[in-house]
Amino acid sequence: EAGTMHGAQTLKGKRHMKVAVFGAGGRMGAEVCRSVRADVALELVAAVDPFRVGVEVEGVVIAGDTSAVLAAGSEVAIDFTTHDACMGNLRWCSANSIHAIVGTTGFSATDIEELRGLFTKSNCLIASNFAIGAVLMMRFAEIAAPFFETAEIIEYHHDAKIDAPSGTAMSTVARMAAAKDSWAPDPTKIEQLPGARGGKGAADIRVHSVRMRGVVANQEVILGTTGQTLVIRHDTTDRTSFMPGVMLAVKRIADFPGVTIGLDSFLNL
Ligand code: NAP
Repeated sequence: EAGTMHGAQTLKGKRHMKVAVFGAGGRMGAEVCRSVRADVALELVAAVDPFRVGVEVEGVVIAGDTSAVLAAGSEVAIDFTTHDACMGNLRWCSANSIHAIVGTTGFSATDIEELRGLFTKSNCLIASNFAIGAVLMMRFAEIAAPFFETAEIIEYHHDAKIDAPSGTAMSTVARMAAAKDSWAPDPTKIEQLPGARGGKGAADIRVHSVRMRGVVANQEVILGTTGQTLVIRHDTTDRTSFMPGVMLAVKRIADFPGVTIGLDSFLNL
């Protein structure tokens, strides 16, 4: 088995990157642990999840705090936790010169500002969506935006997601608003059910969040202009869809100083 056989030594002359996973007991974290272990260029050295201490995941015993991450000599930490936990983990990573790959969502502009100030000795990537199709969906929506007067987003997620709207929807509206700031006003005068028109994102673009058993993560961006609509839709059927993006990010993080938002630059988009 790669991790044990080669240890932290060499593989075709290239040293393994030592990886720690925060939120290792969660849905995404567990999948990330599997992918890191399966990747011959990476070595899973630490797993943290305060509520699953002592459980073994992919050959590593889950620890309750960051001391295990430091003791194992981690170079990169991957975080799929909750917003509050993640901010704490990132403050710690920056103070300990450990690169961070962040899939956790729910960051504010103030959070990002703080992190930009903190990551001076190691690097940080925050990507609201690691699926290549979703990265392209956001890019296509940004390209389409200037050609339409109305746009709304419908995002669909599994029924255990605790934040709304999704980080992907938030990133999408921010990028569409940056590409075009004057959208047609909302015609609604009477809202019979509060929230019927969804939440207002950047440039007042509406976002509707659906939480549904049986779903992983889907999003539709609907753009309209005279006599036509364009729908850009991305569907995720399994959490493995996020893994190639996460593994690529781990391998490239050392080349991107400071804080990077979104996977685009890592994909040369
Ligand atoms: P989840 O199953 O609830 O996983 C979160 C895990 O983190 C839980 O096991 C949680 O423990 C643990 N945790 C809480 N505090 C922690 C701490 N201080 N240190 C380490 N671990 C801690 O949720 P999920 O579905 O995997 O989603 C996690 C995050 O990833 C969400 O923000 C979600 O939006 C995001 N996500 C991002 C992408 C992407 O591509 N960027 C894709 C999918 C999901 P408890 O269960 O005990 O609280």
